[in-house]
Amino acid sequence: MEKYVYLFHEGNGDKKELLGGKGANLAEMTRIGLPVPYGFTISTQACNAYYDSGKKIPALVEAQALEALSRLEEKMGKRLGDAQNPLLVSVRSGSVFSMPGMMDTVLNLGMNDETVVGMAKLTNNPRFAYDSYRRFIQMFSNVVLDIDTYYFEQFLEEVREHKGYSSDPEMSAEDWQEVIVGYKSIVKKHTRKEFPQDPKEQLFLAINAVFDSWNNQRAIVYRRLNKIPDHLGTAVNIQSMVFGNMGNDSGTGVAFTRNPSTGEHVLYGEYLINAQGEDVVAGIRTPQPIATLKDEMPEVYQQFTETCKRLEQHYQEMQDIEFTVERGKLFILQTRNGKRTAQAAIRIAVEMVAEGIIDKKTALLRVDPDQLNQLLHRRIDDKYQRTLLAKGLPASPGAATGQVVFDADEAEQLGNEGKKVILVRPETTPDDIHGIVASQAILTSRGGMTSHAAVVARGMGKACICGCEPLKIDLKAKQFTVGETVVKYRETITIDGSTGEIMLGEIPMIDPELSDEFQLLLAWADQERKIGVRANADNPEDAQKAFDFGAGGIGLCRTEHMFMDLKRIPIVQKMILAENYAERMEALDELLPMQQGDFEGIFEAMQGHPVTIRLLDPPLHEFLPDKEELLVEVTKLQILNPGSTELKEKELLLKKVRQLDEFNPMLGHRGCRLGMIFPEIYDMQAKAIFYAAAKLADKGMEVKPEIMIPLVGHVNELKEMRQLVVDAGVRIQEETGKQFDYTVGTMIEIPRAALTADQIAEEADFFSFGTNDLTQTTFGYSRDDAEGKFLQAYIEHKVLPDNPFAVLDQDGVGKLVEMGVKLGRGTKPTLKTGICGEHGGEKSSIDFCYRTGLDYVSCSPYRVPLARLAAAQATIRHENKEEVYTTA
Ligand code: PEP
Ligand code: MG
Repeated sequence: MEKYVYLFHEGNGDKKELLGGKGANLAEMTRIGLPVPYGFTISTQACNAYYDSGKKIPALVEAQALEALSRLEEKMGKRLGDAQNPLLVSVRSGSVFSMPGMMDTVLNLGMNDETVVGMAKLTNNPRFAYDSYRRFIQMFSNVVLDIDTYYFEQFLEEVREHKGYSSDPEMSAEDWQEVIVGYKSIVKKHTRKEFPQDPKEQLFLAINAVFDSWNNQRAIVYRRLNKIPDHLGTAVNIQSMVFGNMGNDSGTGVAFTRNPSTGEHVLYGEYLINAQGEDVVAGIRTPQPIATLKDEMPEVYQQFTETCKRLEQHYQEMQDIEFTVERGKLFILQTRNGKRTAQAAIRIAVEMVAEGIIDKKTALLRVDPDQLNQLLHRRIDDKYQRTLLAKGLPASPGAATGQVVFDADEAEQLGNEGKKVILVRPETTPDDIHGIVASQAILTSRGGMTSHAAVVARGMGKACICGCEPLKIDLKAKQFTVGETVVKYRETITIDGSTGEIMLGEIPMIDPELSDEFQLLLAWADQERKIGVRANADNPEDAQKAFDFGAGGIGLCRTEHMFMDLKRIPIVQKMILAENYAERMEALDELLPMQQGDFEGIFEAMQGHPVTIRLLDPPLHEFLPDKEELLVEVTKLQILNPGSTELKEKELLLKKVRQLDEFNPMLGHRGCRLGMIFPEIYDMQAKAIFYAAAKLADKGMEVKPEIMIPLVGHVNELKEMRQLVVDAGVRIQEETGKQFDYTVGTMIEIPRAALTADQIAEEADFFSFGTNDLTQTTFGYSRDDAEGKFLQAYIEHKVLPDNPFAVLDQDGVGKLVEMGVKLGRGTKPTLKTGICGEHGGEKSSIDFCYRTGLDYVSCSPYRVPLARLAAAQATIRHENKEEVYTTA
C-alpha cells in the first residue's frame, strides 16, 4: 500500500523530495530532539495523486491523514473539535525547493463557535481566544474560500473607528466577538453558506487549498523564474499550534544564524512580542531586532542561541529559523538553509572553512556563480557627498537609480519598455513579484529585513530598502512625501541598499572591486579548476579589466568593434565605398596605425597571456547609413536642391548602400567571405597585429597573438586566409627584423565547420566555438529577431527549456561542439579548443565545456569571476567521473 502520510518522527532530513523541504526539516529537527510542535506531513506524491484524480483528495490519502491525526491527538492529549480541550493545527505548504510566500498557509485551524469557548476557559484569556478565532476566519476565508482579505480589514477598521480605538490591542474579548459576527456575515454574503464549523471539514478544505495553491499564478511565475519543475508538487504540513500571541511572555520571530546581507557571524533576526505566525514575515508591523530578546527573555534567548548553533553545526549551513515563544517556552517551527546575498554567501563559505565546518571544495560549491553579478555591479562613488532624503533598513545591498512607481503592473510595463524604475510600496506581497522582477530596486515604508520585499530582493540580487517609516506613501495620488519633500510618480531617485539611504536624482557610481574573501574564494577556484578562463575584450581598457578580474588571456577580440569609433567610421565608410583597389588601400593605410595602437594596448594589458584576435566579421552595411533614411534625404534634396553636390554625394552613397543591401545579412557577405573577396582588408589587419607584436618584442615584452578567421564553412576558405596571414607575417618579420610567435586558427560557428572539423583542423592551430552563430545556424533562428519575436513564447510554453542564445543547447548545438572537438583532435591531438560565444559565461554551459574537454571558456570581462567559480565547480562536480573527455 502506498504511504502518503508521515508523522514527524517517521521522516528525516533526506526525504525532501517526498516531504518537501519544510516537512523534511521538521522531521529532522524532531529526530535530533529539538522542541518542535508535533505533527505530520502529507507527501508531494499525495499532491500529484490529488491532481491525477481530477483535484480530489484520494480516499487512501484521506484515510491515512485521519489516522495520523488520531496519532497527533493522542500525543498532544487534545482532540480536534473537542469543546473542552481542543487541538488547533496549522496547515502549511512545503515544496522540495523553498518558495517563500508563494503558496498558502492556514493557522488556528480547528476553531469554531464551541472550541473558542473551550480555548477561552483553558487559557483563562477570552480576549486571546476570540482574537485567534477571528484571525482564523479571516485567513481561512481568504486562502480556502477565496474571499479578499480587504473586506475583513475594512470591517475591522470600521469597528475600530466606531469604538474610537487606534490599534488592535485596545480591542476587548467582547469587541472581537462582535467582529466575529460581522466576519461570518461577510462569509455568508460571499459564499451563500455558513462558515464551516466542522474542524475535519475545515482540515480537508485547507488541504485542498494548499494543493491548489501549487498552481496559483504567483507560484507558477516563481517556478518559472527559478526553474523549478512543475511536476514536483507540494507537501502539506499539519502541525499542532503554539501561540505567540498569548500575552507579553509570548512572541514569534525569525532569525538567521549569520547576517544574510553581509555574512557576518552574528545572530540576525527579529521578533514581535505577543504576535502570531505570519505577522513577522508579512511585514505589517515593524519588529524588534533579535538582540533585544536577550534583555526581554534572557533564558529563552540563551536556549535559542544554543539551538541556532546546534542547527548550523548539524546542517553545516547557515540556517533561517522560525520560532515561537508560548508563555516563556521556546518552540522551533522551521529551519532551512538561509537565502543570502552574494557578498554574504562568499563570506559565510570562506569563514566556515576557517571555522572547520566545511572544506574548500564544499565552500566553492556553496556560492552560486549567477549571484556574483551582484558584486560586480556599480556602486555609489565614495567621494560623493550624499544628501539624504530618508533612511530605512538596508535590506539588500547594491545601488540603483530609477523612476519612482507605486504599482507592480506599472513597474512591469515601464520596465518592459526599457525604463529603469524603482518600485515603492508600503509593503510588497507575493502578488507583486512581476513588478519586482521588472524594477531596479525595491523600497518599502513598512516591514523588516525578513519581510517579503527583503527576502525576494535578496534572492534576485536587487537593491532593497525596507521599513523606511519617514516615507509617507499616497498610492492614490501616486506620490510619497518625506517631511516637506514630495516625490511624484516617475521622478528619479537613487537608493543604496547597503546603507538604507535614499537620495533624490541620479548619483555618480563607480566600478566594483573584489573583496578579500571574494579574492580568496577565487584563488581556491583557480587551484581547483582544470579549464581556462579568458575574456572577450576589444580594447585596452576592457582587456585591463579582464586581466584585473583574473582572465588568463583574451579569447575573442572582435576587431570590427574597433572600427565603430566615431572618428574611424568615416574612414571605414571610405574603405567600403571605394570604387577601386587604390582607393580602398588609401583608407586601409589610414586604419592600420589605429588598429596597431589598439593591439599594442591589448597586448600590454595582457602581459604575455594569449590574445585571440579575430579578423573583421560583420556585414559591411552595419557601417553605412540607414537605407530608408537616406532615401528620404535624397528625395527631399531632389525637390529642394536639385543639381547640388550634396545630392550627388548622397545619391552615390545610396547606390552603394543598395549594392551592399542583403536580404539576410547574417548569412551574407560577412566573416571570412569578406577577406576572400577583399583580401587587402585582412592583410591590413594581419600587418597591424604583426607590427604591434614586433614593437612589443622590441621592448622585450612577450606577446602571444592568435589570429582567428571567422565564419569558416569550408577548409579551403581557411587554407587561403591562413596563407594570407602567414605571408604577411613573413613580410613584417623581414621588414622589422623582429621574430615573434603566433598561431592561426578558426572559429567553428557554422554546422558545416563542425561536421568537417577533421579537414579544417589540417589548417588550424586552434578552434574557438562561436556558439552565438552556431546556435543561430543550427536552430535556423535569426539571433537578431528570435528573442524579440517567438522565443519568449517558446520558453513560456516549455517548447524550449531555456533561451538557447543564453544557455547552450547541449543536445543539439552541443553535439556539434563535441563532434568538432573529437574530429579536430583526431586530426591534430594538440589542437587547442575554446568557446567564445555568450555561453562562455553561463554556468551550465561552462560545465558542458569542461565535460567536452575544451581548454578554455571566454566571456565578457565582468563575467570572468563567475566563470572562474563555475569552472571550479564543474571540475569538482565531475572529479573522478569517467565521462570527462580530457585532452592529452
Ligand atoms: C559567435 O558567433 O559565437 C561569436 C562569438 O561571434 P559573434 O558573436 O561576433 O558573431
Ligand atoms: Mg560569430
